[in-house]
Amino acid sequence: MILFKKAKDLRKYLAEQREKGHTTGFVPTMGALHTGHISLIRLARENNDCCVCSIFVNPTQFNDPADFKKYPITIENDILQLENAGCDVLFLPDVEEIYPQGTALNTHYELGYLETILEGKYRPGHFQGVCAVVDRLLDIVQPDALFLGQKDYQQCIVIKKLMELTGIAAQTALHISPTLREENGLAMSSRNMRLSESEKEKAAVIFASLNHIKQNLNKESLVLLQQGAVESIEKAGLKVDYVTIADATDLTPAGHDYTKQKLVVVAAAYMGEVRLIDNLLLN
Ligand code: AMP
Repeated sequence: MILFKKAKDLRKYLAEQREKGHTTGFVPTMGALHTGHISLIRLARENNDCCVCSIFVNPTQFNDPADFKKYPITIENDILQLENAGCDVLFLPDVEEIYPQGTALNTHYELGYLETILEGKYRPGHFQGVCAVVDRLLDIVQPDALFLGQKDYQQCIVIKKLMELTGIAAQTALHISPTLREENGLAMSSRNMRLSESEKEKAAVIFASLNHIKQNLNKESLVLLQQGAVESIEKAGLKVDYVTIADATDLTPAGHDYTKQKLVVVAAAYMGEVRLIDNLLLN
């Protein structure tokens, strides 16, 4: 695996790859890699000549400075996992490389409704930061395919919109890959490293509650299903931000005749100080 720290060196290398007719699959991450990330690396590698992973803990997407400070960093282990998975290129930029003009964002991305709900509502500014970093990374890597995890459901929809807004959608295909989970159902996440074993067991209630909604979709009203999930999650000792059943394509509220809609349930809850998110397609 080749490691690049400078955007200009990576650009030059990837231009040479393109000249040879080699395709590039790209997996952006914030590091502290786990099997979920590695599943994206393997997919990118299987479907392209060159697999590029970036590791960059993006300061502009953290609305909570304490969360940014405590974000796990395990770079040596990350490099080992990437090499084992056959990743070709690791881009490991510093903040100045991504934000040469500083981290005060000067481009506003028109995300509209998407930015006002769910993660957008609970983490003001978060998606502008996500768009800023992904826009910059896509401009540097210019991949044929971008690989994202369904785990961050709203982020996938935001990045799809970003790609349409910037026009890069014409040259880069978007692949969304299923969420990998621990044995107890807890969605794998870098933030899980901050949980104790007993907290991880308790946090499994999130997925169990989403599953309960899926199993009972046509048996109870959506409002009661959502309320029931909030109660179960809070009974296990977590604090819920939201459990919301929404349209799976744009996250607008489920309509009255929702039986004809493709639905997703999305959830966010705190286990202690650690904020966890998850989702499940319902039909
Ligand atoms: P992150 O490092 O959290 O920014 O995640 C980098 C990429 O990995 C994003 O596209 C995530 O959606 C994806 N990802 C994170 N957790 C999982 C998981 N449990 N299963 C599959 N993909 C994941």
